[in-house]
Amino acid sequence: MKQIVILGSTGSIGTSALDVIRMHPDKFSIAGLAAHSNQDILLKQAREFNVKRLALVRPYEKRTSLDDIIYGENCATELIRQTQPDIVVNGISGAAGFLPSLETVRHGATLALANKESLVIGGSFLKSEAEAQSARIVPVDSEHCAIFQCLVGEEHNDVRRIILTASGGPFWQTPRKDFPRITPEQALNHPKWEMGKRITIDSATMMNKGLEIIEASWLFDLPINKIDVCIHPQSIIHSMVEFCDLSIKAQLSNPDMRLAIAYALFWPQRLALDLEPIDLSTDLVLELLPPDTKKFTSITLARHAMQQPRSLPCIMNAADEVAVQAFLKGRLRFDQIIPVVEKTMDALSGWKIDNAPEVMDLDHEARHKAEEFIR
Ligand code: NDP
Ligand code: MG
Repeated sequence: MKQIVILGSTGSIGTSALDVIRMHPDKFSIAGLAAHSNQDILLKQAREFNVKRLALVRPYEKRTSLDDIIYGENCATELIRQTQPDIVVNGISGAAGFLPSLETVRHGATLALANKESLVIGGSFLKSEAEAQSARIVPVDSEHCAIFQCLVGEEHNDVRRIILTASGGPFWQTPRKDFPRITPEQALNHPKWEMGKRITIDSATMMNKGLEIIEASWLFDLPINKIDVCIHPQSIIHSMVEFCDLSIKAQLSNPDMRLAIAYALFWPQRLALDLEPIDLSTDLVLELLPPDTKKFTSITLARHAMQQPRSLPCIMNAADEVAVQAFLKGRLRFDQIIPVVEKTMDALSGWKIDNAPEVMDLDHEARHKAEEFIR
């Protein structure tokens, strides 16, 4: 049995990962679980899976009688240090996932990565550390999992481009003039996926696709101009790879993150899963449409960010996290989210980053600057 740690176990990715483990209980022993503040659910999960080591950033009640819970901002990193697992699922939301990802590859463990921010904000450091320790980074993000599957048996040099599909979120057909009136409730109503709040709002602004272009560039070692995006409202084609002979491979399945998580966990094996198959007994229409990059500027912004890959993507992500929170709290309009990100990137574009700890310094600075603009 492999030892596994699940970071963000109480969230959307974390609970889906536990579901996959329920389907194949003989494959993994859970060495540790981490969450931010959802103490009751964490303890319930620990009882069900007999987990001995837990981590909580901010408990509502410190259980001093138990010495098996690690508390505080660095609890996830400490959990990896103490448990030394074979594999870590990183389902933490936001930039807070970066240092735990780094710790995972430092130990030479396999990183099953849902936390795309790890690669967006610190891709160069995470990749070089993984290479130095011969640690594997296996994608969990559904588009990247699709590409990972399409690349099996292929030569890197034969890849002409990759095409990330995007559902388009709830507003891909909404005229831009209506954007100022979009409420958090409308933006949280994703047509295809049930996910955490930040990624759901990012899907509505299409910043999620911007982050995913950068994630793909690091994961698959491709320049940003070899990564295209197309709108696919049905969310059945999870992404595609075009090769030098112009042949295109795609991966299809019903939208369910458990498939991508299972692929990452069992890779290089493929195990049976109890999920809903695609129904071909009725009409199935699959559309592919070009994205409207004038309406959704976040894709172009992400491409621009990769001109300074060590700093601008980190600033972009931090400002977006802050702006999304402000939108959810009613302090910022929907159409003001991306302008706050742009202004923050402009203001801090001179920053240089030389090492991994400086990534979090820049993240901190960018949050501060974005908050100033929002105020
Ligand atoms: P959620 O908001 O549903 O869950 C986030 C999880 O992270 C929660 O368990 C939360 O704990 C925990 N958490 C937050 N901060 C910390 C911290 N500092 N240390 C430890 N745990 C922490 O988010 P999602 O599951 O939707 O997304 C997680 C990541 O996966 C994101 O990077 C997202 O972009 C990516 N992703 C998600 C997909 C999805 O379908 N949901 C698809 C593809 C990628 P608590 O519950 O206590 O707050
Ligand atoms: Mg995705």
